[in-house]
Amino acid sequence: MDIQLLETPANQIQNELIRNTEILSHPVFNTHHSETEMLRYIKRLENKDLSLTLSMIPLGSCTMKLNATSELIPLSWPEFSSIHPFAPAYQTKGYIEILDNLADYLSKITGFDACSLQPNSGAQGEYAGLMVIRAYHISRGDTHRNIALIPTSAHGTNPASAAIAGMEIVLVACDEMGNINVTDLKEKAEKHQQNLSCLMVTYPSTHGVFEESINEICDIIHSNGGKVYMDGANMNAQVGLTSPAAIGADVCHLNLHKTFAIPHGGGGPGMGPICVRADLAPFLPSNPFVKTGGENPINSISATPFGSASILLISYGYIKMLGDKGLTNATKYAILNANYLKARLESHYPILYAGKNGRVAHEFIIDIRPTKSESGIDAADIAKRLMDYGFHAPTVAFPVVGTLMIEPTESEPKEELDRFCAAMIAIRKEIQKIIDGEYTKEDNPIIQAPHTANEVCANEWKHTYSRETAAFPIGYLHDWKFWPSVGKIDNTHGDRNLICTCPPIESYA
Ligand SMILES: *Cc1c(COP(=O)(O)O)cnc(C)c1O
Repeated sequence: MDIQLLETPANQIQNELIRNTEILSHPVFNTHHSETEMLRYIKRLENKDLSLTLSMIPLGSCTMKLNATSELIPLSWPEFSSIHPFAPAYQTKGYIEILDNLADYLSKITGFDACSLQPNSGAQGEYAGLMVIRAYHISRGDTHRNIALIPTSAHGTNPASAAIAGMEIVLVACDEMGNINVTDLKEKAEKHQQNLSCLMVTYPSTHGVFEESINEICDIIHSNGGKVYMDGANMNAQVGLTSPAAIGADVCHLNLHKTFAIPHGGGGPGMGPICVRADLAPFLPSNPFVKTGGENPINSISATPFGSASILLISYGYIKMLGDKGLTNATKYAILNANYLKARLESHYPILYAGKNGRVAHEFIIDIRPTKSESGIDAADIAKRLMDYGFHAPTVAFPVVGTLMIEPTESEPKEELDRFCAAMIAIRKEIQKIIDGEYTKEDNPIIQAPHTANEVCANEWKHTYSRETAAFPIGYLHDWKFWPSVGKIDNTHGDRNLICTCPPIESYA
């Protein structure tokens, strides 16, 4: 093979395009000149982060499970990390074998027939899936089918993806138990029978419950000519036990950065492959340079043929190393852990939704609204107080405003679950002291949280509760204390008044 190297000496760049202004003038780019300095800088940043390396992150819907080192290490191997997404096929045979195997595993796990590894996130998977459904309808001459039914409990990305896919959104009501109102669904499906494209449904529901009418719901959509898009963000409660195909869905995305162990948070790269039934497979997206997808593919969804291919190795490792039995056990433990937490917390906080046997799926919602009027403490205040206790907050205000959604995942040992319960129960006692008038609504350890080291160690202490109550409210903190680096902020004020923490803008003038 005759490979020519392109040479681009500086004198080939047109004069007017050559930069002569300063570049990277922010101090951060000019302060850390040695490896020692750089290492310490990065470590200092890391220390500000309350991450999974410190304690569990009980973010409902986000599935913050272990990202095992053994799954992550191969990404650093040049055999995997130095391949260009458009490298010639003879150089990528091993990669393709892994990706093909992964696509097969994901198809088996979902019960579907084909898989596209293109979408780079759950939301992009939703968009891809909806475009595939659209192409399916169009191929049958149903060019007018453009209505997406979406329950009011849906994740915000669902209506956003439907809008971008050019669909018209019709909302479906939920009942007081958080389930889809089947009567309302039936009415709307029949009313829009002529133009129904699909339903977008999350299972188990965003309320953390295995919705019992799910089969009926899918039947209603099918009998009115629509397809069922299952939002797969909650697959951690399904893998090995049930599947999107088993409940009657036609297509789903998988958040590999939730259920399949890719680290996420802070906007890091994710992967949201979609799996489909055979009748949708011909429309899976291709790529202009590397053929992927079906015979009659929609346009590519991401720039590269397999999305962020390198991180797919993490999910491949996760599936390979756990095997059938391990994957199923992970699901069982995820559900068991959630139900254990629910059982331990339900005498302290009301649990918003449960199935008819009183069980939840892999996550559950605690309701903070009942004590809010008596104590002034809302879900966000508890989220901030948890930092003083060394925990990242659960999911705040999704899918229900004024609540916290807790998901422990299978990765947390009982000791950690118990430590989290101890923190939550201690905070509930602090709320009780406000209700009983022992603390005022204005000055109590929750409303003033989080407490920084600067504040707690300062000579002046102006609160009615002690420094120890502020920073060491529970015994385990004496062994391992996380210090929040910023005290209480006013969220709304901050959202409305953006300020730059960089050097002032004038310094660029
Ligand atoms: C996380 C999530 C999504 C979106 O996934 P991204 O990868 O963040 O785009 C969609 N639906 C639900 C229920 C989710 O939890």
